[in-house]
Amino acid sequence: MKTAIVTGASRGIGAACAAELARNGFAVAVNYRVNKSAAESVVNAVSAAGGQAFAVKADVSAPEEVAAMFEAVKERFGSVSLLVNNAGISHIGLLQDMTDDEIRRQLEVNLMGAIVCSREAARQMIPRKSGSIINIASMWGEVGASCEAVYSACKAGIIGFTKALAKELGPSGIRVNCVSPGVIRTDMNSELTADTLRELEEETPLLRIGSPEDVAKAVAFLAKEESSFITGQVLPVNGGITV
Ligand code: NAP
Repeated sequence: MKTAIVTGASRGIGAACAAELARNGFAVAVNYRVNKSAAESVVNAVSAAGGQAFAVKADVSAPEEVAAMFEAVKERFGSVSLLVNNAGISHIGLLQDMTDDEIRRQLEVNLMGAIVCSREAARQMIPRKSGSIINIASMWGEVGASCEAVYSACKAGIIGFTKALAKELGPSGIRVNCVSPGVIRTDMNSELTADTLRELEEETPLLRIGSPEDVAKAVAFLAKEESSFITGQVLPVNGGITV
């Protein structure tokens, strides 16, 4: 059985990815930062459906916790075959009002976290000459969002990182892609008012907000053998918004 690590899998898009990958035959490490009970619910749902999963705590912005997580997963399920860099945080507000700590936290979780997790994954994948890394970017990393300038910068960085790492790891048989979601119904968007959500739906050609499962299906496609000649790509899952 192949092993997947999904970061930030206790809720939202990550939880949907964990469930979908387990259905696709992966043993899944469900990473979380603080929400242990939510991560355990994801694990229980996977087990109830006949899959394999376990919850593993690590803050992706702390390199030593990331290294310990990769070791724990290796001990439990063997070397990692698939990494989904999904953990992320948003910050809505004007740049001039952001503190140094707020800016640093965005960069450390959204960008550095994915980079450090990818480094650990590469160390396990390169000797085996196979593996896949899927990064969760954002439409805002492609077009930029007002009041989310640092978040947008992180996600644009994720896209650049994906393209570069795909070139670096391709000769080792490792694929690196990213999925770029539009607006998805999760806790991250819980601050958006009903009116704003309605406006966003109206601006979307498919006239709806996305679900975590919409993103998870795209992740599962990129994880499959069927996509074995696809690397360095950005797959938008945004209901048809032109980016
Ligand atoms: P969410 O519902 O807010 O869930 C965030 C997840 O990330 C939780 O599992 C949380 O764990 C985890 N997390 C946060 N900080 C972490 C850290 N430092 N280390 C490890 N895990 C951490 O978010 P979401 O909407 O599903 O977003 C998932 C990804 O999709 C993010 O990268 C986000 O930027 C991206 N995205 C989302 C949307 C959208 O509209 N929702 C659109 C485009 C892209 P705890 O439960 O333990 O806190």
